[in-house]
Amino acid sequence: MKPIVMVDLATQYQRMKVEINAAISKVICSGQYIEGKVVQDFSASLAAYTGAKYAIPCANGTDALQIALMAVGLQAGDEVIIPDFAYVAAEEAVALLNLTPVPVDVDPLTFNIDVKKILVALSLKTKAIIPVHLFGQCSDMAPILKIARKNALYVIEDNAQSIGSVYTFPNGDRQQAGTIGDVGAVSFFPTKNLGCYGDGGALLTNNEELAQKIQMIASHGQSRKYYHEVIGCNSRLDALQAAVLNVKLPYLNTYIQSRQQIAQAYDKALAARPDLYETPECLPASTHVYHQYTLKVKQNKRDDLQQYLKQKGVPTMIYYPAPLHKQPAFRGIIRIGSDWTETEQLCKSVLSLPIHTELDEEQIHYITDLLVNYE
Ligand SMILES: *Cc1c(COP(=O)(O)O)cnc(C)c1O
Repeated sequence: MKPIVMVDLATQYQRMKVEINAAISKVICSGQYIEGKVVQDFSASLAAYTGAKYAIPCANGTDALQIALMAVGLQAGDEVIIPDFAYVAAEEAVALLNLTPVPVDVDPLTFNIDVKKILVALSLKTKAIIPVHLFGQCSDMAPILKIARKNALYVIEDNAQSIGSVYTFPNGDRQQAGTIGDVGAVSFFPTKNLGCYGDGGALLTNNEELAQKIQMIASHGQSRKYYHEVIGCNSRLDALQAAVLNVKLPYLNTYIQSRQQIAQAYDKALAARPDLYETPECLPASTHVYHQYTLKVKQNKRDDLQQYLKQKGVPTMIYYPAPLHKQPAFRGIIRIGSDWTETEQLCKSVLSLPIHTELDEEQIHYITDLLVNYE
């Protein structure tokens, strides 16, 4: 059996080596390494894939969140609601702009922001919500949009983990995660479902005015070369990364399918131990692209189980071990949005198993056998 790893990007590369090498070599030979046709082509393909009217590439997913917050024009002191159980990037972008992060508890079934608790967190200063579509599933966007409209809030989706997942509205309309709010932020960090070979990101929007602003902010606030309308930053997707993404984007749906198949195999095997595991819930409102396969381990056994699996050659990860409201960097900066009961419980019980496009059946059996027979 091949050694089990959390992510196997090198083997995935071997399968498309010829295409990737040709695309990279073409960029190097062209002499155009920043901007240009390769990047424009990727932007057009990403818009077509997601269904967003505009896709603006940038340097990484964290920049995408920051640029989105800059583009909607929030003022220092404005409050932004974020989920308490998430990656730090949204909280960081909010705090860097002197806005106030308001962490709100999540729904333990979906790991996404608890809509009912958003209502308790609203104040007169609330100006935006950043739902983070965690682990591969879109947040419950219909009620979030309703709250946003009623209270004149912007909605910026952190879609770093869930590109390709599809949300179904109560009326049956379907839209991809990241294209539903005012702006969606995407990351192409190598381990993401659509990853490049370095850093990369993009912003998605259907709003022309916002698209122009985003474009301008990502490029030093320039309306045209050397004329600076607003204070911006330098955040570009380079041509080599765009070339890699142009090769990989057409495979994204097959990557998603292979992740879904692995998740099904895990679900099926682990159903034998309801006493010990709660497998991830896939709710009807959103498809699941399984950026992570995250279990809840019962009976306080998570840490022991993780050690045991490690000894047996199975790596696992804890996403995330601490709530955002407890991170020392944000002490004194956040405002308390809601209770954090579920987040605190999740931080103690979650365990993410290996899931990637190169995981084979033998490895899956090995992992599930260990889990099912664990005492
Ligand atoms: C990866 C990630 C980001 C940041 O993306 P980078 O490209 O690494 O800056 C933001 N939010 C979430 C939820 C992520 O998983």
